[in-house]
Amino acid sequence: MRMKPETYVIHAPVVETPADNRPLNFPVYQNVKWETETIDDALGIVRGQRPGYFYSRVSNPTVHQLETLLASLQGREQCLATASGVNAVAQTLIALCRAGDHVLFFVEGYGPTRAIIRNLLGRYGVTHSMISIDDHAGIERELAARPTRLIFFESPTNPINKIADIAVITELAQRYGALTVLDNTAAGFHQHGQYPIDVFVHSLTKFTTGNGDVMGGAVISRSELIAQIKSDFSILGAQLDPLSASLMLRGMKSYFVRYRAQSASAQRIADFLASHPACTRLRYPGWGNGAAASLARRQMQDMGCVLAFDIRAGAEAGRRFAERLQYFAKTPSFGSAESLVMAPQMMQPKEFTPEQRAYSDIGEGSVRLSIGLEDVEDLIADLDQALR
Ligand SMILES: *Cc1c(COP(=O)(O)O)cnc(C)c1O
Repeated sequence: MRMKPETYVIHAPVVETPADNRPLNFPVYQNVKWETETIDDALGIVRGQRPGYFYSRVSNPTVHQLETLLASLQGREQCLATASGVNAVAQTLIALCRAGDHVLFFVEGYGPTRAIIRNLLGRYGVTHSMISIDDHAGIERELAARPTRLIFFESPTNPINKIADIAVITELAQRYGALTVLDNTAAGFHQHGQYPIDVFVHSLTKFTTGNGDVMGGAVISRSELIAQIKSDFSILGAQLDPLSASLMLRGMKSYFVRYRAQSASAQRIADFLASHPACTRLRYPGWGNGAAASLARRQMQDMGCVLAFDIRAGAEAGRRFAERLQYFAKTPSFGSAESLVMAPQMMQPKEFTPEQRAYSDIGEGSVRLSIGLEDVEDLIADLDQALR
């Protein structure tokens, strides 16, 4: 039977690459469906009885290549990549919690995560307590008061760079039978794996490509927990797409070089800001002599690219400072090649009570910087003129 051209464009022979002749960069499997010779083979894949791929909403080789890389960097067995960081947070919480469960989380955390726990989970009958990440007695009091399904926390926290005591939190969680979920976005994929954290979540939007041009998220854990949450993930349907995964795989080759260069520049800038009279309450992990600094030095090897501090003269001076900066884009996020600044007006959570506002530690003049890959002398000169 000879194909007509109309059929040939759909059923042309496939180019094979020899198995011992591999491309250096992992291919983009821009593809949704896989076929097999027999129906039993297809069913075997769907049931997880044989390796293979069936449908990209469930798994895709390019995405899986990225998942394997991130899981091993974080020191865990498996990873699920998602379409955004908030999606990794939301799907993890939806998969792990059921109506009547209680979640403990912290006022210092990422704003959209608070909204997921309070508004979204709240609608489905999951209750919560929100306290300060520094309040260890409060954590124990909350855990002792009722069964708690999980503790959700960050370290360093976004936006104000508080350091969670991971050993204390994981020890209390284990004692009271709660799972720990750490949003490890700011610390990166290579840190905190030594602690008995049950689930890591990440925004891949920050450090994977280094260019701030691709969105994604990841959930990383042991196989048994990933198996539990994977069935929910594949029907919620917010998988990372293969093209984004391939851009992230490309970016990850320079991950350590970028993370450490940005950390080194941020350290120099911390020293500069600490000695500047217009600045106060500098928070950079490991900077200074306080308890938080020594805790950060115990927990982390690389301190990251985010600095938080207060403009002593307050909110309006903070706004003028941000607007004066030449090399810092006035926008959220961090980890990109460009340096970024958030003015006080962009930092304030609107929904806090005065008490929550006080222990969130976001002050009237608080600003946040993300240090990029520009020359550090240029950045310091820019900060200096804007502070003046
Ligand atoms: C950015 C961020 C997120 C959300 O990630 P997106 O990719 O923007 O959805 C979640 N947690 C933390 C700590 C973040 O910094």
